[in-house]
Amino acid sequence: MYCPKCGAQNDDNSYKCVSCSYLLHAKPARQMPRPIQSDDSLGGLIPYKNPYSLISYYLAVFSLIPGIGLILGSIAFFLGMKGLRFYQEHPESGGKIHSWVGIILGGICGFGSIILVIFIIIMSQQ
Ligand SMILES: [Zn+2]
Repeated sequence: MYCPKCGAQNDDNSYKCVSCSYLLHAKPARQMPRPIQSDDSLGGLIPYKNPYSLISYYLAVFSLIPGIGLILGSIAFFLGMKGLRFYQEHPESGGKIHSWVGIILGGICGFGSIILVIFIIIMSQQ
């Protein structure tokens, strides 16, 4: 840039003119305040922006309890699928891992409960 006072050529980032010491920038270029990152770092641990994956995760954990695993596990499985789709549409929301936990754990508990129920029915008929 050229000094508006004396016309001397200066580096664009110069604070003062090299020739006449005229202040080229009233204030030194201030750095933009960094955006708050805490939201994103927290989102990595708790995907609260992706409610499907969060609910799926907790339902899958509770589906480990025998008896309610069939209901909770299958809900967790479908919510996990929904959460994974939500994550693909909104990658910034996070929740990929939680969704997979919901799908896998919910699937195992739901499927395991079905087998258990069938097993009990077969056993009771003998
Ligand atoms: Zn100057």
